[in-house]
Amino acid sequence: MGRIVLDQVSKSFGDVEVIPPLDLTIDDGEFTVFVGPSGCGKSTLLRLIAGLEDTTSGHIRIDGEDATNVPPAKRGLAMVFQSYALYPHMSVRKNIAFPMRMAKMSQEEQDKRIEAAAKALNLTDYLDRRPGQLSGGQRQRVAIGRAIVREPSAFLFDEPLSNLDAALRVGMRMEISELHKKLDTTMIYVTHDQVEAMTMADKIVVLQAGVIEQVGTPLELYRAPRNVFVAGFIGSPK
Ligand code: ADP
Ligand code: MG
Repeated sequence: MGRIVLDQVSKSFGDVEVIPPLDLTIDDGEFTVFVGPSGCGKSTLLRLIAGLEDTTSGHIRIDGEDATNVPPAKRGLAMVFQSYALYPHMSVRKNIAFPMRMAKMSQEEQDKRIEAAAKALNLTDYLDRRPGQLSGGQRQRVAIGRAIVREPSAFLFDEPLSNLDAALRVGMRMEISELHKKLDTTMIYVTHDQVEAMTMADKIVVLQAGVIEQVGTPLELYRAPRNVFVAGFIGSPK
């Protein structure tokens, strides 16, 4: 579960086409990073997949089903926002439980999922604290916990670490990679940071002005960048 196929997907805002028609396949269980400079359309592409923006043309298939017109909550995907999207007045437990409460899930099932998420994220001892009593990294883990309990077929991250300091970012990268191994679920991760892309990705999608310049493993992009833009952006010798 978690195979996502974009078929001639495009997006315009008014007269401005920010994403010309593109094709892209994200394989089941893969850690895919969308990387490119600010304004190149990474967030827009992620939001199209999430269903938070409507496509101007083309089709999105998730696990074989046409999801182009399926509302976000029914796509089986979970978007991880930056940690400032937590509710400050709620405990960690309640923050993590929030999507399950909205879905009116049984208390027993909620408790089970909270426990599993807390364990996976090393948050077991912090469930009764409030976000304000946590470190930045712990807060980001709570935001991820809120996505995990939905048991999505894919996780969508939009620059989740950009408001953490450099040292914390390194640690959180490792934690997210570790989580990907544990959960074995598709993850799409948006960043403008080449180091993040090169160290975390199974597959990198390099974007410039809404156009996919190259798709490949970090090593492929490093060894054989298709053009000067990719070479310059990735920092390889071409
Ligand atoms: P990135 O995430 O790579 O920084 P975005 O996807 O946020 O880029 O934006 C891509 C382009 O689309 C930018 O030129 C941005 O100004 C434009 N854009 C994004 N969202 C909107 C919107 N809701 N209305 C108009 N233009 C938008
Ligand atoms: Mg963005």
